[in-house]
Amino acid sequence: MYHNIMDLYGDKGNMMVLSARCQSRGIQCKIDTLEMGQPCDFSAYDLLFLGGGADREQVLLMQDLLPRRNEIQKAMEQGVMIVLICGGYQLFGQYYIAADGTKIEGLKFFDYYTEAGSDYKRCIGNIAIQAKLDNQEITIVGFENHGGQTRNVSKPLGSVLSGYGNNWDDHQEGFYNGQVLATYMHGPLFPKNPEVVDFVIYKCLKRQNPSFQRMDLIALDDTLEHHAKQVILNRLHITV
Ligand code: GLN
Repeated sequence: MYHNIMDLYGDKGNMMVLSARCQSRGIQCKIDTLEMGQPCDFSAYDLLFLGGGADREQVLLMQDLLPRRNEIQKAMEQGVMIVLICGGYQLFGQYYIAADGTKIEGLKFFDYYTEAGSDYKRCIGNIAIQAKLDNQEITIVGFENHGGQTRNVSKPLGSVLSGYGNNWDDHQEGFYNGQVLATYMHGPLFPKNPEVVDFVIYKCLKRQNPSFQRMDLIALDDTLEHHAKQVILNRLHITV
């Protein structure tokens, strides 16, 4: 969604990785892009993806996103998986108060809300979290850069091992309710965390075939990916 507006740190590259990992396994994968004003039947997809963006871009796209609320709601009711990064994550909550004080109303699907604070301080840097995706424990690494502090998150994605996460204080990161996976982790989230992208692929296939199991996914050679992840873990002095 809004790949040409919400693509900080190459967030849409996550979809390229998802597509490549499907291809390697002979799984059909078609990715469509959505621009402002373009009609879209969200329920026709197995996955919706929205990346991050600067405050200005968030203000800009909200006028297009808000009228689509019912369509997105319908897609959720039909089991469509949703992945949201940073600015996209914020917009699914109650509201986002940007650094200049502008209040952006969110889609209000969830109770969390985000405020940037007036001091322009930002959470920037590499981050590692310990997450639980359904029954799977995963250490996830990423990069965050946000002014927004997200609070009142009922179901955090994981706890922070190093970095900031949802806000300065509670050491929790992201949101995951079994269907919507939202995170502050930008850029190479899927490239550096093959377990996460495979989990998303599994959820999409399960939507089509409820008896599909996580272990039914053919294993790929992830040597390079694990090495890339290890580099970040070493840099953060984390042993797992
Ligand atoms: N503009 C938002 C913030 O600063 C989101 C930024 C982002 O997507 N990286 O909090």
